[in-house]
Formats: sequence, C-alpha cells, structure tokens
Amino acid sequence: MQATVYKSTGSWYVVKTATGETFQARMKGIFKKNEDITSTNPIAVGDFVEIEPDDSDASAKNAMITGIGERRNYIVRSSPHGKNKKHIVAANLDQAVLVCTIKDPRTSLGFIDRFLVTAAAYHIPVILVFNKKDLYRDKEMEKYEEVAALYSSIGYRVMLVSASTGEGVEEVKEALKDKTTLMSGHSGVGKSSLINDLLPGLDLKTTAVSGWSGKGLHTTTFAEMYDLPDGGQLIDTPGVREFGIVDIPKTELSHYFLEMQPYISECQFNNCLHLNEPGCAVKAAVEAGDIDVDRYVSYAAMLDTIQEEQY
Ligand code: GDP
Ligand code: ZN
Repeated sequence: MQATVYKSTGSWYVVKTATGETFQARMKGIFKKNEDITSTNPIAVGDFVEIEPDDSDASAKNAMITGIGERRNYIVRSSPHGKNKKHIVAANLDQAVLVCTIKDPRTSLGFIDRFLVTAAAYHIPVILVFNKKDLYRDKEMEKYEEVAALYSSIGYRVMLVSASTGEGVEEVKEALKDKTTLMSGHSGVGKSSLINDLLPGLDLKTTAVSGWSGKGLHTTTFAEMYDLPDGGQLIDTPGVREFGIVDIPKTELSHYFLEMQPYISECQFNNCLHLNEPGCAVKAAVEAGDIDVDRYVSYAAMLDTIQEEQY
C-alpha cells in the first residue's frame, strides 16, 4: 500500500494513505541497511513509501515501511552528527516559503542567501514571506522595500504579511493552494503564528520573542506535514539556525546565485571562483552594479565555508 510520510521522529513515522488512513509506521530492519550513508535520516517527511499494515491489531493502525519511492527533490541541512553528513529536512516539494522579518528579530541577508542556495541546488522555487508588517515603521519599510526589490529582481516572489493582524495572509494561502510547500525560518520570525493562520484549529505553540535567547529554544528537530484546508500540504520545519550547503562544490556555488548565472560562462577561466581571477565577468558585473554587492559578499562568505578537500 502506498502512503506519504507526514511526521518523522527518527525511529517511527506517521504515514497517510491516499484515502486518508493514518498509520504509525516503523522501518523494516533490512531496509535500514540500504540507507544513504551520507544522510542521517533514511526517511523524511514528504517521502512516498510502501507500507504493509499490521493486521494483527486493526485498531492500533500500525504498519511497516517496506520501501521508499524515488525522491523528486529534497532539502537538506547539515547534520549536527557530522560535518559532511546531511539531514534530509523534507522531500518531494513543489516550493518553499522562507519566513523572514525586518524587525524583532531581523533576518540577515546571509541567512536568506544560504537558504536560497540550498533550494536552488535542489531546484525548489522559493517565496520570501516577510512577517510582522505591523511592527514596521518608515525605517523598516524602507529596508523592506530595498530587500524586496533585490530579491524580486533576481526572480523570487516576495510577500509582506502580518500573522498578527492577518494582513497579506490571503495571498500566502493562494500561493500555497494545491502545492506541497516547505515552510522554514529562524526562531522568532512568527512561522508558528503564520501556520496557525493558515491551518485554523491546529494551534501550534508560539514563543514570545522576549523569551527568545537566540539559541537552543528548538524543542522539535523533525519536520511535520499538514493538509491545508483548501488543498495542498504544508510542511513545518523546526526553526533552523543555518542551512547547510552540503554537496555543493566550490566551482558550482555561483550557479545557485541565480543572477550570476548569465555571467559565469563569460569568465576567462571555466573554473573561475569569481574571487581574484583575471577576466572574471561576475566580478565585473558586481563592479558595474549589475549584481548586488551584498549578494556577492554572501557568495564569497559561503565559498569560504566549503571545504576544499571535500572535492
Ligand atoms: P516562530 O518561532 O517563528 O514559530 O515564531 P512564533 O510564531 O512563535 O512567534 C514569535 C513571536 O512573534 C510571538 O511572540 C508572536 O506573537 C510574535 N509574532 C508573530 N507574528 C507576528 C506579527 O505578525 N506581528 C507581531 N507584532 N508579532 C508577531
Ligand atoms: Zn569569474
């Protein structure tokens, strides 16, 4: 029987069939051996799996996962269990929403860029949703306009909402309809509040920003998927501090800065890292103002974190 993984705890899973039947499932022992050794979790939320219901106790709704379907795509973060190990956050996504804020707390452009690179590497379109509009005064609105213009010019969809007042939430709903969307963001941006707006009746716990220390507040480490009332699925991921850019060789990184793509082939050297090489078209575009300097700074910083020996 076919099912989709809605929740994973690492040792057991909640899976749902096409008819809406839910099972608590475990992974069959022999199957564990086949796990991708570079990932710390063999099955992720969004995975399509083959299950065998345990008929011995029909009321218990237990099942065994006997196989896993090929993933259309997936998004990873680096695993705390090993530098080059990855943790699959979720699989088979249509798109991702990154919840950001200009204020309380301010999302750094570096954080956004790391997320965008990760998503681009797996061909997942991203919508940037800036939350807490109700808190923005002139200064913050100006900053928002600037950031929105930058990411829109690259081709990303950008929205401005307030989970508190509900402003802009309809537009988010519309964008999520009939799609499988991963929702992410660092703690405190109001992701849980926004999800509560999108899924009435769910009532996720929210955390006051005043009690937000900036680290260590994440109780859940696994993603969970919900059916949206108007069709589609939403995958909530625990607040992350950083997205890994595992699996991306240095020479490929610039491909995932979408606005750099047209220049890459114009560089004098085909393995150009766009740092100090002569005849670099990317750097020339930065100097000409055709590529935003903040994005270039993000690129250089990210490049620095990729281990040379790895490739
Ligand atoms: P999460 O960590 O991203 O899930 O964030 P929460 O949803 O727990 O929200 C963190 C804090 O921000 C809570 O105190 C929320 O009440 C507050 N918050 C969330 N959305 C908004 C918003 O649109 N405006 C304002 N002013 N506060 C918000
Ligand atoms: Zn170059």
